Amino acid sequence: MPELQVKKHIAYFKRNLMMFPQPYQEMDSERMVLGYFCLLGLDLLKALEEIREQDKIDWIAWVRSCRVAKRCDSIDKDVKGDAYYVGYRGGPCTMTPGNEQWDEPMLAGTLFAACNLLFLGDNPRSNTEDMKGIERFLQLCLCEDGRYRSNLLPGADEDIRQLYMAVSTATLLELKLKNVEQSLDYIKSCQRYEGGFGQTPGAEAHAGATFCAIASWKLLNKMIPEFRGKSLKKCIPHYDRLLRWLVFRQQSDGGFNGRTQKLTDTCYSFWVQATLSILGEIHLVEANASRNFLLEQTQHLIGGFSKVHGEYPDVLHSALGLFSLALHDDSKLSDVCPALCLTARFCPEEAK
Ligand SMILES: [Zn+2]
Repeated sequence: MPELQVKKHIAYFKRNLMMFPQPYQEMDSERMVLGYFCLLGLDLLKALEEIREQDKIDWIAWVRSCRVAKRCDSIDKDVKGDAYYVGYRGGPCTMTPGNEQWDEPMLAGTLFAACNLLFLGDNPRSNTEDMKGIERFLQLCLCEDGRYRSNLLPGADEDIRQLYMAVSTATLLELKLKNVEQSLDYIKSCQRYEGGFGQTPGAEAHAGATFCAIASWKLLNKMIPEFRGKSLKKCIPHYDRLLRWLVFRQQSDGGFNGRTQKLTDTCYSFWVQATLSILGEIHLVEANASRNFLLEQTQHLIGGFSKVHGEYPDVLHSALGLFSLALHDDSKLSDVCPALCLTARFCPEEAK
C-alpha cells in the first residue's frame, strides 16, 4: 500500500501559507477559508507547532484586520442605542474606499476567522463585546423559516450551507442561537426521497449538503435540553434510506461521488465519510479502498491532494483528503471532530 507523504504535505501547506499560486487569484475574497485549509492541514499532520512565532503574530494581525463592526441601526432604523453587529470578511478585497456599503461581515469569513485564530493560539472568545456582536450578526442572518443567509447584503445565498456555518460558529464560540427548532425543521425539509439532503428544499440530494444537514442536526440537538442525549438514529426520518444513499456513494475505484451517477472526487471522501462518522456508521464503508484511492490516485508528487488523478493539488482537497484518512484513525494524523471539521483538540466537548 502507498505511504502517506507526511513531509511533502507539510511543505505543501507551508508553501501555500507564504504565497498562494496564481490559480487562487480569483478566490481573493475567500482568502480566510484558504488559510483555514492550510492551518487545518498542518494540524492534521501534527505540524502546527512548526509555524514560526513571528508568522503567527503577523497572521493573527491579518485575521483581526478582517473584522467588521457595523451599527445595527444601519440596517434597521427602529434599533435604538449603539448596538453593533460584528463578523469577519472573507478577505481584504472589499476594504477599498467608496465600497463601504459592500464591506459587510460574512458567515463564512466569521467561522473561518474563529478557526484560524484558534489554530494560531489567539482565543477569539476572550473578547466578550465581540462575542455579543457576533451573536447579533448570527441573529440578523437568521431567516423566518429557520435557515440562514450568508450576509446582510441583497441577494445573499440562503441555504443549508449557511445554516451549518451559523450553527458551527455558535458552537465554537459558545453563542446562543434563536429559533433552533425551526432550523431543525428547515433541515428536515431538505431531505429527498433517496434519504440524502439537498442544499435547499426540493434540490437534488448532494453529499456536501447532506454533511451540512447531519452535522448541523448533531450540533443543534446539543442546544435543545430534551434532545441532548437522543441519538440521531432516533431523530432522522428514513434513516436506513439515508445510510444506503451514503454507502452507495463509494464507487469501484474506492473513492466517493457527491451525487448519483457522478465521478469520484477527493473532497467527497470527506463529505460522505464525515457524515457516516457523525452517525457512528463509518464501519459501513470499505476503508482500505478509500485509503488506496486517496494515496494512489489523488496524493500528489509535490505534496497535497488533487480533486481527481492527474490534476494539480489545491488546499481544499488536500485538507479534506487528509481529514478523510484521519477519520479512520491513521496514527500519523491528529484526532478529529468531523461535525466541526476541526482537529479534536480545538473543539468544545459539546461538539464531539
Ligand atoms: Zn471536490
